[in-house]
Amino acid sequence: MEDCDVLIVGAGPVGLATAIELGQRGVRVRVVDLTDDVGFRPRAKLTNVRSMGLMRRWGLAQAVRAQAPLPADYPSDVIFATGMAGHLLTRFENAFRCARERDDQFPEPAQWIPQYALTRVLRDHVRTLPSVRLDYGRRFIGLAQDDDGVTAQIAPTAGGEAVAQRCRYLVGADGPSSPVRKALGIRMQGDHGYARNFGVVFKAPELSGRNRLGLGIQYWLTNPACPGIVGPMERDLWFFGTQVPPQVDIDTLDPAALVRRCIGLDIAVEVVATDPWDCHRLVAERYREGRVLLAGDACHLHPPMGGYGMNMGIGDGLALGWKLAAVLQGWGGPKLLDAYQVERRQVHERVIAEAVENYSTLTNQLVRDTMMAEGPEGDAARAAVGEEVARVKQREFHTLGVVLGCRYATSPVIVDDGSAAPPDEYRNYHPSAHPGCLAPHGWLADGRSLYDRFGRGFTLLAERDEVAAFRAAAEARGLALTVFVHGDPALTELYAAPLALIRPDQFVAWRGQAVPGDAGAVLDQIRGM
Ligand SMILES: Cc1cc2nc3c(=O)[nH]c(=O)nc-3n(C[C@H](O)[C@H](O)[C@H](O)COP(=O)(O)OP(=O)(O)OC[C@H]3O[C@@H](n4cnc5c(N)ncnc54)[C@H](O)[C@@H]3O)c2cc1C
Repeated sequence: MEDCDVLIVGAGPVGLATAIELGQRGVRVRVVDLTDDVGFRPRAKLTNVRSMGLMRRWGLAQAVRAQAPLPADYPSDVIFATGMAGHLLTRFENAFRCARERDDQFPEPAQWIPQYALTRVLRDHVRTLPSVRLDYGRRFIGLAQDDDGVTAQIAPTAGGEAVAQRCRYLVGADGPSSPVRKALGIRMQGDHGYARNFGVVFKAPELSGRNRLGLGIQYWLTNPACPGIVGPMERDLWFFGTQVPPQVDIDTLDPAALVRRCIGLDIAVEVVATDPWDCHRLVAERYREGRVLLAGDACHLHPPMGGYGMNMGIGDGLALGWKLAAVLQGWGGPKLLDAYQVERRQVHERVIAEAVENYSTLTNQLVRDTMMAEGPEGDAARAAVGEEVARVKQREFHTLGVVLGCRYATSPVIVDDGSAAPPDEYRNYHPSAHPGCLAPHGWLADGRSLYDRFGRGFTLLAERDEVAAFRAAAEARGLALTVFVHGDPALTELYAAPLALIRPDQFVAWRGQAVPGDAGAVLDQIRGM
């Protein structure tokens, strides 16, 4: 088998995102997966504002929106009620910021799209990248590494001998049970399987017509018969999920009956897929062993509430992709790969804590004895639950602070400027160019997104074209540096500085009031030399 620069094991959303970041930079990549069957499992439905920003960066935002089954004006409301034809408890509008509105804080709103549909968009794009080869029907068996590279054993799933695949680096994006992680002997640390859940995808053509709650993306149905969450995936195709108590044998569950009890309607329910899954709170003890790195569910697992798992993994793909490309192409140094775990683990731990907090209040915790009663007693119980939900659950649906406020507080490749970090809130995002933060977004006078002016490599944002020393230092190093002279005092105010260096992943690496004496030293630090 021909050598490649990077072998990616796993063509889930994270492996494909990594392949796109590498392949768009011309890196020779091979991606292998057991199967091209993306299935109908009720996994990620939310591609959040950060991931949609990355889709735009990769030129895929329109394709993602075009493949989303629900209409563009479908509201991303989350509705709490006693049943689909029952009593409303409370409603969160524009959850996750999916509304197609222009917002100063980000270039793309979030998108409600099933994981299988998003995966197909990523896969189709990967197939257009000349330096990437995508092979299904291949199983990763094991690996050995030396100073120059990795030799992986890849076997056809249809049977036959394993073949050696040589690569400079290997990425394990092979999901929760990660054979790559296991081959390295890396353990997951934290709480294993602390709650059991049961998911169902079902067809119910009558359900839309019987819905008395209005349009929404999630219906949290809180009733004693079967508390659970229901929501649309496609026209007449729905997902359902409920927590399963420890004493119940999952194999004895009747999926259609559970769905009917939860929605409170005796209608036809055709089960398309079932998906039992366990809740974990885990991170890998290390994300790297020599030339092998882990990304996505292979190195972090947590409850899905808040819709963070796949989105965080897509962020891993970006983080790893540009760093590997920089090292392979010589414009970055070895510290970039050391920085991968340092930087990403901070984000993972912050987000996982949030997801675990969200999972602590589900529909079953909100059931009250009298909430199904008609009349004043039932009204009072429902009002009390509605108030509790509005208070406790809003952090799950208004998450801009979590999604865009993630920052790399410590990193060997970010230059601290001694300024105070912005407030760390789950709900409100405080745009800041404090080094290590996501570059604050803005719309330019010509209507374009600031992010669209960033280059593929590093970008220097400058109010005035007085940056000759940076240009010279970049040229001397053969480093592609996009200089964007904006001449806009408002942008300088947003960044609290006339100069800022932005990394390929849109994070601020350095900012300053003037070009430093040794501009080359700054460039060398941020590119990991
Ligand atoms: C109920 C539920 C709801 C969720 N909702 C959301 C949400 O709204 N938003 C969100 O961001 N996340 C959500 N998630 C999490 C999300 O589904 C995962 O984080 C995501 O699938 C991780 O992607 P991945 O590419 O890392 O792994 P996977 O999707 O598991 O892909 C791994 C790939 O590796 C392949 N593979 C495994 N072993 C081998 C081998 N030996 N050789 C070759 N290939 C191999 C597999 O076939 C697979 O294709 C949800 C999860 C659940 C359970």
